[in-house]
Amino acid sequence: MPTVQYPLRVRVYGGRNTHAARELPISGGRETACEYFIDAEADNHWLPGTDPVTCRRCQRALERGDSLI
Ligand SMILES: [Zn+2]
Repeated sequence: MPTVQYPLRVRVYGGRNTHAARELPISGGRETACEYFIDAEADNHWLPGTDPVTCRRCQRALERGDSLI
């Protein structure tokens, strides 16, 4: 099983947590490690990939290091 990587960091519109995110290979959309589909039209705040993840569900997903698919 390949490990799913979440190299992006995003604070979604209206949210306060920093999520880990990735681009979906087929649709070109983006989703967070906590399985939130990111609305590309929304005013999301993208952060450097080195920023710490503050969303607890994302943190758990990253600690598990496995696929959420
Ligand atoms: Zn999250």
